[in-house]
Amino acid sequence: MDKHACRACRGSAGHVVLDLGEQPASDYFPRRDDPGPDPVYPLQMWLCSSCGLAQLLADPTAPEEPRGTEPAALVSQAADAVQRVAAAGWLPEGGVVAEYGSPHGGSWLGLLAARGLRPAGQAGQAGLADVIVDCFGLMHAADQRAALAERAARMAPGAVLLLQYHALSTILRDGQWNALRHGHYAYYSTAALTGMLARAGFIPRTAWRFELYGGTVLLAATLPAATPPATTLPAAARTGAGPDDALRSMLADDAAGRVGDPGAFAGLQQDVQAHAKALHDWLAAERSAGRTVVGYGAASRAVALLCHARVDRLLLPAVIDASPAKQGLRMPGTDIPVAGPEELGARRPDAVLLFVPDLLAEVRAAYPEVEAAGGRWVDAATLGS
Ligand SMILES: [Zn+2]
Repeated sequence: MDKHACRACRGSAGHVVLDLGEQPASDYFPRRDDPGPDPVYPLQMWLCSSCGLAQLLADPTAPEEPRGTEPAALVSQAADAVQRVAAAGWLPEGGVVAEYGSPHGGSWLGLLAARGLRPAGQAGQAGLADVIVDCFGLMHAADQRAALAERAARMAPGAVLLLQYHALSTILRDGQWNALRHGHYAYYSTAALTGMLARAGFIPRTAWRFELYGGTVLLAATLPAATPPATTLPAAARTGAGPDDALRSMLADDAAGRVGDPGAFAGLQQDVQAHAKALHDWLAAERSAGRTVVGYGAASRAVALLCHARVDRLLLPAVIDASPAKQGLRMPGTDIPVAGPEELGARRPDAVLLFVPDLLAEVRAAYPEVEAAGGRWVDAATLGS
């Protein structure tokens, strides 16, 4: 195999810090009648010794998972984020905004239009953007350096890039090993990301923290402004200062959490087998006790967990998902079918194993029949922890 070159700095020195072995592509949901076996690919996280970016080592897969329904937690976080960014003076009235979204869905453009921003690319709107919003978009770019350069090239002098990402410190702290998946090329610490941004010509400025996924960061960085700064710039962007206290405190947290030290990832690797064993043991115990369990959320993050735990349809007869695009399919690497929410009423499960914890409040409200029939919701991430 050719030596890996860092997706951000092109350095070749680094360490594999998490190895999930051979896994099916988490975005390839076969048809239910496809007998398999599904193709598998190595799934490894590599930490660059030069720039500190944690990244997917190799990704031979190409397709994206079918767009799921957008969790309400994501929608409300977007509203909260736009409100906080606006209150801090980072949204220019009448400015032009471009968006790099996630292939999994979710857009801030409606919220930003309501605050007077105009989407780029509309008729008569050929100019550069004053704001670029990148909400879980950049992580999907195989070439991180090229993707940042592409964003910078679309921005006016002094314009602001708002980048939202699931923090690597959260992944380490909460043992979220199954954040690692094909198609997700980068796992950002604030430390590594601010370095990448600086090398791409940006000035990292400030950041906000959100509870989404256990700890998500929205970081603001600007391009150097013209002299004098354009009056169309957001008020907060005109000063041209460096990192503020909020951003410096996140960098200090990253240093304390040793996000650039391969040794700090050892616990994450141990969590993999512990978590898989806990899931398998719990499902086997439920089955022995004669209790029915189904899963909820045919999300990519469930795939590696079910495969590692060697869960089949005897232990988990279905994974329920509300997305019409996933009906008639099965979970990759197993024989477990994906079924629609009507099965919750039909099967009357004793427990529903939730693979997307952010959905808990939403699914409890949407499917009261589960608890009305004596069933309970169980967060798959908490088994064994
Ligand atoms: Zn690097």
